[in-house]
Amino acid sequence: MTIQWFPGHMTKARRQIEEKLKLIDVVIELIDARIPLSSRNPMIDDILRGKPRLIVLNKSDLADAKETERWIAYFAAEGHRSIAVDSSTGTRVNEIPVLAKELLQHKIQRQIDKGINPRAVRGLIVGIPNVGKSTLINRLAGRNIAATGDRPGVTKGQQWIKVGTEMELLDTPGILWPKFEDQLVGYRLAMTGAIKEQVLNVEDVAFFAVKAIAGRYWPQMQERFGVEEPPKDLEDADEVVRVMEEIGRKRGCLVGGGRVDLEKASGIILRELRAGKLGRITLEAAQSEV
Ligand code: GDP
Repeated sequence: MTIQWFPGHMTKARRQIEEKLKLIDVVIELIDARIPLSSRNPMIDDILRGKPRLIVLNKSDLADAKETERWIAYFAAEGHRSIAVDSSTGTRVNEIPVLAKELLQHKIQRQIDKGINPRAVRGLIVGIPNVGKSTLINRLAGRNIAATGDRPGVTKGQQWIKVGTEMELLDTPGILWPKFEDQLVGYRLAMTGAIKEQVLNVEDVAFFAVKAIAGRYWPQMQERFGVEEPPKDLEDADEVVRVMEEIGRKRGCLVGGGRVDLEKASGIILRELRAGKLGRITLEAAQSEV
């Protein structure tokens, strides 16, 4: 479900998260390992106001493992613990409660010192739409939690879900808006399916996808689509379009006169990229961000 984010929705989403923050000890900020910066809410630091936070890079099964390591180091340099998981299969998901508890170690120790028996750590998952919040909640819960109110403003009665014996999670995640101000961020969100590409032009989204992938993952692109020549110059739009056309031709996306149906080719490129058919690809490099 796509959310149209209007200013009123953002205010409401923010207020809802702020209400939930009062109930919890730790925030689990879910981001997409393929686009760790573009999938973050632009105001996250301001909204969380120093609440202990674990960053979880989800969909790591689709991301470049080496890049993911670099991102973990990048977040560490920023002072944040992070972990890469795959919520669809559950890989490393069970480390989340352990790390969350570690973040609260001092608080828990103080309680123990005072003779208080520490209760289960209370957590809240937050993130932009489609980042995998419901999938992760279901994984941690070990069962299907009834469909979450996947819209800001739509809340059900909140409940705590037990995650093992040492953690409890709020069953409704905090839904945050993505960044809008930067067009490239929009394209990256569309490439990964976080926002519907119909909001943008499908050929433009595919153009930026091919440009990004051809630069760093050419062998994977070549293997998937059988394109022979990489673009000679990535800044040359004609060269990028030439590759898109070649993909279209290989896949039989033709219109009259042997011309390539670029829209159809673009759809194929994006579908296969999102499904991981081109292999594991990270669209934002930590190196250039540090
Ligand atoms: P939400 O809007 O944040 O609650 O996102 P969902 O949990 O509905 O997930 C959005 C889509 O991403 C669904 O199609 C999920 O199956 C998929 N998804 C979630 N986590 C992962 C993951 O770790 N790996 C992969 N490959 N897909 C995932």
